[in-house]
Amino acid sequence: MKVLVIGGAGYIGSHVVKELMAQGHEITVFDNLSSGLLQNLFKENDFIAGDILYKDSLDKAFARGFDAFIHLAAFKAAGESMINPEKYSVNNITGTLNILNSAVEHNCKYMVFSSSAAVFGEPKYLPIDEDHPKDPENYYGYTKLSIEEFMKWYDKIKGLKFAALRYFNAAGYDPDGVLYGLEQNPANLLPIIMEVACGMRDKMKIFGKDYDTPDGTCIRDYVHVTDLARAHVKALDYIVKNNESLTVNLGSEKGTSVTEMVEAARRITGQPIPADYVERRPGDPACLYATSKKAAEKLNWKAEYSDIDTLIDSTYKAYQRYNKEHK
Ligand code: UDP
Repeated sequence: MKVLVIGGAGYIGSHVVKELMAQGHEITVFDNLSSGLLQNLFKENDFIAGDILYKDSLDKAFARGFDAFIHLAAFKAAGESMINPEKYSVNNITGTLNILNSAVEHNCKYMVFSSSAAVFGEPKYLPIDEDHPKDPENYYGYTKLSIEEFMKWYDKIKGLKFAALRYFNAAGYDPDGVLYGLEQNPANLLPIIMEVACGMRDKMKIFGKDYDTPDGTCIRDYVHVTDLARAHVKALDYIVKNNESLTVNLGSEKGTSVTEMVEAARRITGQPIPADYVERRPGDPACLYATSKKAAEKLNWKAEYSDIDTLIDSTYKAYQRYNKEHK
């Protein structure tokens, strides 16, 4: 299929492109390079430097004719979205509405969307399934939830078929080592651990050690980016084959605490990784993990690379290589 990947130069987008190419799809990447990197592009693919805030540039892209598109272009820092919601309204919501309008106008009616476990908010029960109540704790999560609602209406009215993939905690890097472009100014746990391991920062903070968990630190479901990428390919096949929209959770189904992650990183990297326990970060639920039963049933998907050692090892290798080349 001819597929437009919006946000395809980013961390998750580039891994999605790699898996789509492996299945023989013809890819065009659309990205404004605000956080995406030129080094994440594959020379085999077309690239359009464009911004989702300019509908004209989207119209020009969609006019090339695509069977489907994948939308991964969004801001994703939950904390920042509570301080500067306008940024998230404009990019995540207005930008997505531009994409939906341009797509349907150009008759491109299959879409895979990066949603998030942030749509659920504080868990009412565990593991979190697709039917769990949606009550986002932060504005970022609300943007994802509202986009899920927009897509349902465009499905009803315009026949747009979508897959909404609710990622839990995306982590890890391409196990083949082809993709190693680092996210700039990361806020997520594993990149911060790696910055300490690689001497890019002196030490890290562990937010809270008085949670109601076995070691007192927060538990999350870390899922390898290559596993997520493969789910996009399967989800695209599913919605095209069945002409039916689909919403699924994507997690490893395993919970890992912050302390466990830091200790595993010390073991795997051999670096001391100094860490201070500090106050809780506002808006952090104690424990979050998914059931991916629906993804298994509908997509025949399960996490294969999401064990802690592969997550850390692949990330450490990407950091070492990138830093060596960017000295
Ligand atoms: N975390 C931490 N120190 C950091 C970054 C994150 O202790 O420097 C914790 C954070 O409080 C949460 C977990 O690591 O419990 C995962 O956070 P992240 O921001 O990666 O993802 P989130 O679960 O918020 O989407």
